[in-house]
Amino acid sequence: MKLATDYLQLTTCNLMKKNLTFYLLLILNTCFSQDINYAREVVQKLASPTFKGRGYVGNGDGLAAQYITKEFRSNGLHPFKNSFIQKFTTSVNTFPGVVRLNLGGETLKPGVDFLVDPGSQGVSGKFSTVRVKLPDIFDLEVLRKLLSSSQGKFIVLDPFNRKDFEKEQLKQIDDFVNFLKYHPNNIAAGSILLTRNKLTWGGSTTQNPKPTFIVKVDADAFPIDTVEVRLDQVFINKYQTQNVVGYIKGQNTDSLVVFTAHYDHLGMMGNETVFPGANDNASGIAMLMNLARQYRSNQPKYSTAFIAFGGEEIGLLGSQYFVENPLFELEKIKFLINFDLSGTGDDGIQVVNGSVYREQFDQLVELNEEYDLLPQVKIRGEACNSDHCLFYRRGVPSFFIYTLGGIQAYHDIYDKAETLPLTEFEDYFRLMVAFVEGL
Ligand SMILES: [Zn+2]
Repeated sequence: MKLATDYLQLTTCNLMKKNLTFYLLLILNTCFSQDINYAREVVQKLASPTFKGRGYVGNGDGLAAQYITKEFRSNGLHPFKNSFIQKFTTSVNTFPGVVRLNLGGETLKPGVDFLVDPGSQGVSGKFSTVRVKLPDIFDLEVLRKLLSSSQGKFIVLDPFNRKDFEKEQLKQIDDFVNFLKYHPNNIAAGSILLTRNKLTWGGSTTQNPKPTFIVKVDADAFPIDTVEVRLDQVFINKYQTQNVVGYIKGQNTDSLVVFTAHYDHLGMMGNETVFPGANDNASGIAMLMNLARQYRSNQPKYSTAFIAFGGEEIGLLGSQYFVENPLFELEKIKFLINFDLSGTGDDGIQVVNGSVYREQFDQLVELNEEYDLLPQVKIRGEACNSDHCLFYRRGVPSFFIYTLGGIQAYHDIYDKAETLPLTEFEDYFRLMVAFVEGL
């Protein structure tokens, strides 16, 4: 296999890492420090409060797209038409103002103690409550009585563990929760869903008829007789967001290698609570930027496109728009790699579509062993869980790769740049360069 000179140099550096003498350490630093420092810089920047969690409050997505455009340009990429920006519109539910929740006299911290359901309606006022315990859901008579007394009140549903219930019971519970959130016949003012699980947020392109809060509790019993709340909510029908797309010309221009990563995240839940999205997915953008730099100084074998997708968290919208309005022929794609959650690697990487494109997967494993890079390259079948999916469905050979191990933070306020380890980032980067060189 032919390896680019730069990669050979990187590999030499890697070997040196195994014999840490002072002299070699000096060389090592000149070989690598730039990459990892730049990766950190990109993650810190995109996960900083300036970018407001890269969602739809305060133009977070737009600011991030501007920054990515600037970096694409300075890393030597060219736009396909006149602009790096590919615009598209979506509806989106947002919480741009005050988010305050007080239960039974105790003021809760947004993001720490509670989440607003992403599709929630806005609400303001002081309410009394109706408590629903789990057994009540399975007794229609009791449930009917409770619901008929809930006019203008907040329903508080007890926490539960899904594994304590049978399939049929779980369906009844889910139906009840859906009734609380979505049903026009729900006469309650809103609902509080108590949980003992980790708080994991999301986004929504629709709005529910009722406000819903997810509140974390430790104890089973939680005396909540009053709910004092203010939730400023704005549903935007036509929000303009964007993908950022660029390329670098290769020695062979008949085929394209494509690197993708979404840059959007969950944004803000109110005007104070930011979801920084360092691992998800500032880290993937950092990988894209490092690869762009690599190919700026070493012309790639194939022309190489870089796509930073918007709207991933609210339904893979950027990649969907792109495959419907492609800036190059999708048939020309030799291989696509989608990066999401690239910031750990303590337990290696997981390769979605690994069993679909077995030959390429085996090549990854072989290279990884040959150069002694990641602790593990793990195989997985197809999964429509990130932006590669829309391409894969159109027959584009593609992997979606994410790192394993390390931090637990995910879709919460703790996914921060300061705690993102980037454990295997450099070796991961080297593996990708070697893999693409072998295509
Ligand atoms: Zn993601």
